[in-house]
Amino acid sequence: MRGTWPFASDALPESRLLASVAEFTHHRDIDALDHSLVLSLAELVTVGSVALCKRGDDPLHPIESLVVCTRNDEDTLVVNAVGAHQDAVLAKSLIRSMDTLEAISEITPDGVSRLIVPVQRDHVAIGALMLESGEPLDAIRPLIDGFSRIYGNYIALLNESERDKLTGLYNRRSFEQRLRRLLKSHSERALRQVDERRTAVDDSRIWLAILDIDHFKRINDTYGHVYGDEVILMLAQRMRASFRQSDILFRFGGEEFVMLITAADEASVNATLDRFRQHIADHNFPQVGNVTVSIGYALIGEHDYPEIVLDRADKALYFAKQNGRNSVYGYEALTERGELATPMPAGSIDLF
Ligand code: GH3
Ligand code: MG
Ligand code: MG
Repeated sequence: MRGTWPFASDALPESRLLASVAEFTHHRDIDALDHSLVLSLAELVTVGSVALCKRGDDPLHPIESLVVCTRNDEDTLVVNAVGAHQDAVLAKSLIRSMDTLEAISEITPDGVSRLIVPVQRDHVAIGALMLESGEPLDAIRPLIDGFSRIYGNYIALLNESERDKLTGLYNRRSFEQRLRRLLKSHSERALRQVDERRTAVDDSRIWLAILDIDHFKRINDTYGHVYGDEVILMLAQRMRASFRQSDILFRFGGEEFVMLITAADEASVNATLDRFRQHIADHNFPQVGNVTVSIGYALIGEHDYPEIVLDRADKALYFAKQNGRNSVYGYEALTERGELATPMPAGSIDLF
């Protein structure tokens, strides 16, 4: 078999294959990993293009992104990330492969061989690898299957390291990367909506909210840590059920949670958060009974550093704690009303 496959060199020594796997699994950042995967594969096999498609949550755009590696006129490999725009026939094949979890081998109307292999995580397709070539691709299918499985396993590991063990929500460590990705996809979506003149979903802004359970020490002191943990877990489950799938939820530590919420305006983010606050206040937690939460939120401006926005939301949360708890406050509204204490003049902070 060796020497007949369309490998970059006549034979594919195991050492090259292992070096290739080691190279792409070296990355901890998912974007860099995707980039490296298509490049590593394109270096191993001489085909027209190698692409990785990622499945998205938006039912109108089930293919979130495509990372494509092609060879340019100077015979150099080039990797490009493309948005959700791609031809409908191709999208159909990709979706069919992901839905059925079956590889597809087909010839395009231009006579190009195309191989699509789904990428699975826990028996669900999270994407697909796609290769196109002037030559038949069936011989390299076992190799692509193997890469797809290694990539799927590795993504599962990376995702686990982003999650909080108790609640399954994202942990603090993953916050900056999630925020960066959200801002990126948000601006891409905004551009697409302008393109398509589609204004059905006007989620034009992102807000950061911090939630902290009121008097949690009392819960721990009265009922013990096990019940305290149970309250944290149940609250997280209610958060998942109450917020939209597109909102991103984190447990930042202890009984503190952070939410990234897309909303059209301040009134709607306030209403969403206040509805959740009320929902928790009305709930009867087993043994513990009533639990309330305080929430502070702030708008994420395009050029704001995450720490600045976290600090603003935290100030609004602090205001809620100082003003009776079981309430929701927005940093911008508080500032406008002049209700947040003005910063202390320089030199007034007692350092010792
Ligand atoms: P406040 O209304 O001002 O927020 O009062 P609080 O008692 O909730 O005060 P604070 O938020 O400062 O304290 C949180 C307490 O939560 C401190 C710690 O004992 C407890 N805690 C932190 N992490 C965990 C955890 O993972 N499990 C449990 N059961 N308790 C935790
Ligand atoms: Mg706290
Ligand atoms: Mg608290």
